[in-house]
Amino acid sequence: MRNDISRRQFLVMSGVGAFAMSVPGCITMGGKKITGQNAAGKPNVIVILADDLGHADVGFNGCKDIPTPNIDSLAKNGVRCSNGYVSHPFCSPTRAGLLTGRYQQRFGHECNPAWLPEDTNVGLPLNQVTVAQVMRDAGYVTGAIGKWHLGAAPCFHPNERGFTEYLGFLGGGHMYMPGDKGGVEYTVPVLRNKQPVEQKEYMTDLLSSEAASFITRHKDKPFFLYLAYNAVHTPLQAPEKYLNRFKHIADEKRRTYAAMNSAMDDGIGLVLKALRDNGIEENTMVWFFSDNGGPPANVAPTNNSPFRGHKGNVYEGGIHVPFVVQWKGGLPRGKVYDEPVISLDVFATAAALAGAKVPESHKLDGVDILPYLSGERKGVPHDVLHWRSGGSGGKWAVRQGRYKLVKDGTAVELFDLVDDVGETKDLGAEKPDIVKQLQKLHDAWNAELIEPLWQNPKRAVKKAGRK
Ligand code: CA
Repeated sequence: MRNDISRRQFLVMSGVGAFAMSVPGCITMGGKKITGQNAAGKPNVIVILADDLGHADVGFNGCKDIPTPNIDSLAKNGVRCSNGYVSHPFCSPTRAGLLTGRYQQRFGHECNPAWLPEDTNVGLPLNQVTVAQVMRDAGYVTGAIGKWHLGAAPCFHPNERGFTEYLGFLGGGHMYMPGDKGGVEYTVPVLRNKQPVEQKEYMTDLLSSEAASFITRHKDKPFFLYLAYNAVHTPLQAPEKYLNRFKHIADEKRRTYAAMNSAMDDGIGLVLKALRDNGIEENTMVWFFSDNGGPPANVAPTNNSPFRGHKGNVYEGGIHVPFVVQWKGGLPRGKVYDEPVISLDVFATAAALAGAKVPESHKLDGVDILPYLSGERKGVPHDVLHWRSGGSGGKWAVRQGRYKLVKDGTAVELFDLVDDVGETKDLGAEKPDIVKQLQKLHDAWNAELIEPLWQNPKRAVKKAGRK
């Protein structure tokens, strides 16, 4: 890690008890050696991504009808980020930002890619470096499991983007039950690396057991694992063993959604058990968040409370997600961190933890948030956060401190997120100076972006002459 001596001195001076430092082959926290270290002396990193999960659909954000004990344990044993954001209000662009550590609009990845396996232009641009590449180059075993959604052509395959191991499906979702009928994208074979394999179980169970297996297989080496569930994205499908837990929920859709969420929570329990069984829990940083907010009620019965809007919006409901980081060896337990952080921060944080080298030409927008979460560093990781969806004429938002300027429809609105997290009262007329300041910040950032390299899937598929 960086600058260990000064960190240690700072922590001693500031009276912070828990801190981590490392020298090759040995990581210590508060003078005590972290257990479960590999020979390289490097912590493991796991990023668990949920799909379309509502903000209030986890126990630690107040969910009452769906128990999520394993997800909640991450918050209990780690740091819950109460202002955790993603860089886009829907699937693929968020993933592009997450894996590159950069605002994805800088390189035109602003729409979902259509399912076009023959199109080498629709996918995570090949001139972008991924966190998997830099972790792999730093000696990590890198694995991706689950939903990819960053291009279906061979050049975009996870194995070509830094992941040494892959099990999952390349599209934006998949049928959950083996053999289910559906559109091409959602029924393509599950791949192990580039080879089709038979799906024998419920998709969520398959992805979870594969993650546990990955952990066990690589327990002696540093690893970076990206576990991207398609749960709880539609189609709403769950087997009886999970549905039976929710007989008390009358609404059938909510019951199925609850079962899907519960299956994912079980799976995260399996992942955490694998870490414990292999003695490497202290030495593993685990992230959990959703790729965007829950969709509107006509799509899925999610709960984005207390926020306005849903998936697709740049109101909080689209981008403010359940967000937690657990690292028993290096972070406080049960802490709530309130300053804004964003999915873009995964890259810089993981790379710093690994001592990985990031190419100078690859300019990160995310920052290493570990010293902020640990309490070592004061101040804020981000002075300003930005969002844009749909190109330069589309939706956008900018947040600085307590204020957020939003253009989600035709009007530009100003909200005070400290007093009004539900974005109910437009303060634009009362605070014109703040509107002006935030508009200026947005304009400057917007001028650095390019237009989307492709458009939404329906338009793209139509252009290619397919249904
Ligand atoms: Ca999603």
